[in-house]
Amino acid sequence: MINLLDFTQAQLADYFVEMGEKPFRAKQLMRWIHHYGVRDLEQMTDIAKSLRSRLAEQVCIQPPAIQLEQVSDDGTRKWLIEAGAGNAVETVFIPEQDRGTLCVSSQVGCALACTFCSTGRQGFNRNLSVAEIIAQLWLANESLRQAPDYELLSADDRIISNVVMMGMGEPLANYDNVVSAMQIMLDDSAYGLSRRRVTLSTSGLVPAMDKLKHDCPVALAVSLHAPNDALRDEIVPINQKYPLAELMAACQRYLDFAPRDFITFEYVMLHEVNDSVQHALQLLELVRDVPCKFNLIPFNPFPNSGYQTSSPDNIRRFREVLLQQGYVVTTRKTRGDDIDAACGQLAGQVQDKTKRSLRLALVAE
Ligand code: SAH
Ligand code: SF4
Repeated sequence: MINLLDFTQAQLADYFVEMGEKPFRAKQLMRWIHHYGVRDLEQMTDIAKSLRSRLAEQVCIQPPAIQLEQVSDDGTRKWLIEAGAGNAVETVFIPEQDRGTLCVSSQVGCALACTFCSTGRQGFNRNLSVAEIIAQLWLANESLRQAPDYELLSADDRIISNVVMMGMGEPLANYDNVVSAMQIMLDDSAYGLSRRRVTLSTSGLVPAMDKLKHDCPVALAVSLHAPNDALRDEIVPINQKYPLAELMAACQRYLDFAPRDFITFEYVMLHEVNDSVQHALQLLELVRDVPCKFNLIPFNPFPNSGYQTSSPDNIRRFREVLLQQGYVVTTRKTRGDDIDAACGQLAGQVQDKTKRSLRLALVAE
């Protein structure tokens, strides 16, 4: 059986042409599946019964199972989504006044082994398929539409207005599947999100950034976390392969195509590791030629991490240095604390298929 959740509209159109059908059927089907959240072909009433029966023999609409759903006191929701063989990934919904943001995972684990990240510590198992990535939106929509807060809304009212590829995994290390899934997010017949409302966060895979700007230029966030190569080599090991000068140049190139005229630099605040005024000054120097905003993320502790969150004073001082130069700086609020839904706590369950040494070798490849 073919899982239709794996298909972009263009691929579905090819499929219909192969069946001897009109390609515009793809648009209809995308609308039923993604806009109306229908999984039963029988409900697709504007598609002829004979075609529905033919389709039923070949295709299904099959999202993965939800293992667990948790709702935080602040309205944040977290779903643990089955990924087979004892694995699971997490998806988080963060409601705010003017938007609803879904944080989507791209891999089971991550091979890039950033030292402060619990996903990175767990190792890497496999890439998620297109269906498994887009199903996170599909399932979240289905679940939110049944929630008391939203049950009066129609299918045309958008609950999820923004997507951030900031869950488990490095999205650019699962390039093809992530790009196809983002194309479905942007498709007017599916989720219809604008390119500025979809943000991809990367630890800095330079060649893939250069490709993305042509294939699917969405808003870009770059996980910087250190203002010099010596420190970044240590805490974001992929820096050994794509050092800061190359990364900054790639950011500049990306902006020629980006839907926003800035890069968001993410910076996790680690107590007495990267949070001094000196570090902030070095950071200013580093990003001098890249139009950008900063997102400071207080470190979310996890067992045996070996790190502590920066003190409020250090965060304030660090922030002041950037603000004084006229930069926009947001400090991420911790949301969903009571259900461990904060970034870097997206634990899921990962059966590691790589040894740590092998993982680092992969990075250095
Ligand atoms: N792999 C991608 C996207 C997923 S992580 C990336 O690294 O950008 C999303 C963000 O959360 C990244 O900026 C990441 O560095 C940050 N993060 C990871 N672990 C964290 C932790 N324990 N506390 C705070 N932020 C963390
Ligand atoms: Fe992977 Fe991102 Fe975690 Fe680094 S911070 S280990 S790239 S998920």
